[in-house]
Amino acid sequence: RDLYGHSRRNAAGVEFGHRAALDALLAEAAAGAVPAADAAPRIDGRPIPGTARLAVSPIDAETVVGTVIEADAAAAALAVDAAQRGFAAWAATKAELRAGALRRAADLLEAERGRAIALLQAEGGRTLDDALAEVREATDFLRYYAAEAERLFAAPLKLPGPTGEDNTLAFRGRGVFVCISPWNFPLAIFVGQIAAALAAGNAVVAKPAEQTPLIADFATSLLHRAGVPASALHLVPGDGEIGAHLVAHPLVAGVAVTGATSTARAINRALAMKDGPIVPLIAETGGINAMIVDATALPEQVTDDVVASAFRSAGQRCSALRLLCLQADVADKMLTMIAGAARELKVGDPRQPSTHVGPVIDAEAKARLERWIAAHAAAGRLVWRGTTPSGGHFVAPAIIALDSPEQLTEEVFGPVLHVVRWRAGNLDQLVDAIKSNGYGLTLGIHSRIDATVRRVIERLGVGNVYVNRNMIGAVVGSQPFGGSGLSGTGPKAGGPNYLPRFAQEQTVAVNT
Ligand code: GLU
Repeated sequence: RDLYGHSRRNAAGVEFGHRAALDALLAEAAAGAVPAADAAPRIDGRPIPGTARLAVSPIDAETVVGTVIEADAAAAALAVDAAQRGFAAWAATKAELRAGALRRAADLLEAERGRAIALLQAEGGRTLDDALAEVREATDFLRYYAAEAERLFAAPLKLPGPTGEDNTLAFRGRGVFVCISPWNFPLAIFVGQIAAALAAGNAVVAKPAEQTPLIADFATSLLHRAGVPASALHLVPGDGEIGAHLVAHPLVAGVAVTGATSTARAINRALAMKDGPIVPLIAETGGINAMIVDATALPEQVTDDVVASAFRSAGQRCSALRLLCLQADVADKMLTMIAGAARELKVGDPRQPSTHVGPVIDAEAKARLERWIAAHAAAGRLVWRGTTPSGGHFVAPAIIALDSPEQLTEEVFGPVLHVVRWRAGNLDQLVDAIKSNGYGLTLGIHSRIDATVRRVIERLGVGNVYVNRNMIGAVVGSQPFGGSGLSGTGPKAGGPNYLPRFAQEQTVAVNT
């Protein structure tokens, strides 16, 4: 429990091996699948009319998940203006009351998790365990940032006044924060950004990924029902162009984006070109994440951790393993075991609890991944490929052998594992080659030699290092998440330094 008596515990899971618990969860998700969902720009809580399009599931083209009305440039501008009007009252709301609304949202989300899971599965193609994990992460973000708001914002920090002055330092909201979120965590990251910005006393305009507006609409309405004023949170579904309109608006005081490095760069440029105040950007982007395995590692554990890190969520996590670096002496044995385990993965409809790998998000993603795999297959580098079911945007897992880490020049956002071999004595060269890609998000190390682990961690300044375990699924409050270099600006989501970056500081010195 924290200072305020609130539990700091993370949201509870479900034991899938327990048949009754699994059945209950499946029943909740089935009940949550109706009625069809809808999304629209919501400004001051009111939907803006427009032409609706049908949102079709990545699982199969026959599953219509709902209808979506996208914002146009005029609606984007209206949303920022409305947020600016809502800002003053929300910023003046006590941190404890802002936190209270976020905590009520966490409780509501747990109560309505069946609906959330159904939407995550149908719209986002998420497997049952991914969807549940995501609901838990979103819940954790809400409670964690609520507690952080109380810790940091409830009262100003008293500072020394050696000359007899009364000195304090306080945080306050910056103004209108634009939150641009990705489709791969359409609930957790959408909610996490918003919760942080709101907790810090900002008004928010949220622009969800164009692929996942329905889950965003659901989450927005949930936050409103929990007590976040409609004037403090506005939803603007749309594509990247709408995001660009939002960012360019003169009243925007801050931007948080999670997405591709190229998107963050474009936003950074646009912000730099604006007149008026200098607007901060909080960006969490991609990675070309490596796992280094030496000859002392436990093969069975490596196998499990590689398969989970590379193929869970169909590889659509920015933390996912892209480049497996096996010490040459053990590489053949480990690769055989990994391919053997990967062969057991069931690719298909994510609503079946037995499915391990669901679809990728859309036809474009599938086409890009298939082109990548085909080019490497043509060059004789395909080590193993699963079989792709028909119907939705499925991509069977693939393992590709490369000669050196430098050959992997882009983030391949799907179930594709690249493997290189390294020789004992060449560890530093390997680490430098990994580093040369410029990203710094996650790193896995499998070794039982402490000196090796320390050496690698020291030489490779990535954001999140995972030793002798898988490298995905950072836990809010325990493993603050975010990278360096091309992977983002920091601060780390789900960590104690996140909220201050959404706020401005004010020093008050009173001559007593
Ligand atoms: N936080 C997630 C994880 O640790 C990844 C977030 C992302 O993919 O954007 O796996």
